[in-house]
Amino acid sequence: MLNLPAGEPSHPLAPSLMRHATGRHRTPSRVIFLSLDMVADTMPMSDVQFVKWEPSKLMTARCMKLYKAAGTFDVVAKGDLVAIKLHVGEYGNTTHLNPVFVKEICEAVRQKGGKPFLTDSSTLYPGARHNAYDHYITAMAHGFGDCAPWIPGDGLKGEHGVIVPTKGILKEIEVAGAIAEADAMIVATHVKGHANAGAGGAIKNLGMGCTTPAGKKAQHEAICMEFRVEKCKGCGKCVEACFMHCIRLVEGRMLVDKGKCMSCGFCAAACKNDAIRQGDKDALPRALASAAYGVLSTFGKDKVSYVSFANNITQKCDCMASPGAPVHPDIGVFASDSAVSIDAAAFNIIGEQLTKMNHSDCFLQVKELRSFGYPGDLKPKVIEL
Ligand code: SF4
Ligand code: SF4
Repeated sequence: MLNLPAGEPSHPLAPSLMRHATGRHRTPSRVIFLSLDMVADTMPMSDVQFVKWEPSKLMTARCMKLYKAAGTFDVVAKGDLVAIKLHVGEYGNTTHLNPVFVKEICEAVRQKGGKPFLTDSSTLYPGARHNAYDHYITAMAHGFGDCAPWIPGDGLKGEHGVIVPTKGILKEIEVAGAIAEADAMIVATHVKGHANAGAGGAIKNLGMGCTTPAGKKAQHEAICMEFRVEKCKGCGKCVEACFMHCIRLVEGRMLVDKGKCMSCGFCAAACKNDAIRQGDKDALPRALASAAYGVLSTFGKDKVSYVSFANNITQKCDCMASPGAPVHPDIGVFASDSAVSIDAAAFNIIGEQLTKMNHSDCFLQVKELRSFGYPGDLKPKVIEL
């Protein structure tokens, strides 16, 4: 257990705070575990502010009006270290969040007296964001060098985390240490599809994006892959599909290294003989909500806000270097103080399509987080500017 340092201003909900931290390597200097269901009782449902995507108009200026209307930067106090949580895209991806918007968000944080830093966590799988060094190189190559310092959320090799209790399908989750330590956070999200969650929005940016590889593995493992060797015909399609290289053929049957498996389900999609199944496909979106709740519990009340960009909407997520062509016309930009409301606002427009395309209900993660008592509305009032 950690105590607040001497002189820490008392939180308005101080009696309801439980402070908890068990860092795997280094413990953060301050982590707040806030019982969010108590907050829910004190907060009104959150509206969502919105501007249409209109390339004929100056979108950066329109976004500034949007942020003002939504109170995006109200979460920033003078001197705050403010995490700008984003996904820079796998190396070569061209549909990720545009850095020009991130640069302006950082500038606005500085104008409020805050100290913005860009951050994300290491991926579970090998690639161009698997450790802090490669992640930084990718972020710079994708144009994020001119915004604010890049601070890896979970250390050099994804092992700087803090374990916090949470609700739902997971009992605890390992949150990236620098994110847990930040004073405030602006969750800047690109809305797109996702193979196992239907769609990725703010909740995925929190749940998967703000946790260490160990936290990500816990979420993926909730799916419980089923490998039925007796049904295997030895075609080898799953071997080709597995980018973790954990399947090989031995005597004409699959042999899986389950220790390396991240339950992505690509092998199950490739197998036409029903030899591989995702035991509980709904488990991943539920785990995302569970992890997101844990991440949010490390911030004080009114210290996290959300901005979501619904343009370049692809069926697959930005973790793919080639996620395919956009599957929906550009929609616009949303801003809110609730992860539930902002995802619901975007998914109420494109969720049905992405759910069908990915065979996974994207609303599940939203309903699950709301069910924990986290404030927000599944049918939020969307105010167009
Ligand atoms: S794709 Fe299916 S049938 Fe083919 S090797 Fe893999 S498990 Fe066996
Ligand atoms: S689910 Fe299948 S494709 Fe994905 S890592 Fe595990 S074995 Fe490989």
